[in-house]
Amino acid sequence: MARRGKDKAGARGFVEIDGSKGEGGGQVLRSSLALSLITGKPVRIHNIRARRSKPGLLRQHLTAVRAAKEIGQAEVVGDEMRSSALEFTPKAITHGDYEFAVGTAGSSTLVFQTVLWPLVVTPGRSRVVFEGGTHNPKAPPFEFISRAFLPLIRRMGARVDATIERYGFYPAGGGRFAVTIEGGVTWRPLHLQERGSLTRIRAEALWANLPKGVADREIKVLRDELELKRDSLKARKVDSVGPGNAVLVELESAGCSEVFADFGARGRPAEEVAKGAIAEVRRYLDAGVPVGPHLADQLLLPMALAGAGSFCTMAPTLHTTTNIEVINRFLEVDIQLARESEDSERYALRVGADEV
Ligand code: AMP
Repeated sequence: MARRGKDKAGARGFVEIDGSKGEGGGQVLRSSLALSLITGKPVRIHNIRARRSKPGLLRQHLTAVRAAKEIGQAEVVGDEMRSSALEFTPKAITHGDYEFAVGTAGSSTLVFQTVLWPLVVTPGRSRVVFEGGTHNPKAPPFEFISRAFLPLIRRMGARVDATIERYGFYPAGGGRFAVTIEGGVTWRPLHLQERGSLTRIRAEALWANLPKGVADREIKVLRDELELKRDSLKARKVDSVGPGNAVLVELESAGCSEVFADFGARGRPAEEVAKGAIAEVRRYLDAGVPVGPHLADQLLLPMALAGAGSFCTMAPTLHTTTNIEVINRFLEVDIQLARESEDSERYALRVGADEV
């Protein structure tokens, strides 16, 4: 893995990241922390989450910073609630047993994504328990991680398993999942050009501490609109400390699996939640690509670490384009993103010069 030359590092060797650029959210912070740990380069981030309505470090982001600090024995300045600037100087990454609790309903799957790659590249076995939200709007729900994301990164050589023990929804949180990582990865380039034929669609409505009717209404909409048979639909009661509801649709294709979701909230009709997930499914099916918009931004980091890979996806989100910029601040790796043709909805992303 090649590293960026000194020209990209600021005073005292810090990589300088402006957190207000591009997407301007938590991913800039999480990718920077992961890449700082892996490359050993200290990072200074300012304007953290400047484009969010509550900028700076919230509980979830602070937990991610402290988790990165712990696994990398890092020296950190600015790790306080609402802090908008951070200096992070890592030492060695240490595998082992860890527990990271957000302490609110903030997303624990995003904390997972901060420490995942450093522990995947570091030789040795880790077992990490994450607590907080497991099903949050604007974050990967646990089933996206377990059914879409992990199978793909396993194909890239990562040895990671995850098991959910309790579900966490806003506002009570209290979810918990455990991850085992056999570190010291030997990367295999992944090339995902075609989705192939759709082999199965499964839809679930999760519910906890709410009337079951909420999930039943969602199942009805999923059944009618996606034309699903009874054995592909499930209203699943889950164990959680507070009330919660989510709709998940899993699309299994020859090339890969994708998971789309939407989340219940106080005052939001069940039908609307189901329709939110269905709209994402339709967009994905219409685009005819294997990799949906969320997977796209999340596959970039492992592909960059592998130094090679490619996939076909939909119009890139700001998360994707911003993540490419952050990765390029730490790693000397060529990432190309191009529309396949002027009238096409397909975009080709390529990392490195590897032949497909
Ligand atoms: P940020 O908004 O910068 O904190 O980043 C949010 C991250 O969560 C991005 O990697 C998104 O792709 C991801 N994300 C948001 N919603 C979903 C979803 N429904 N499924 C999977 N990933 C998601």
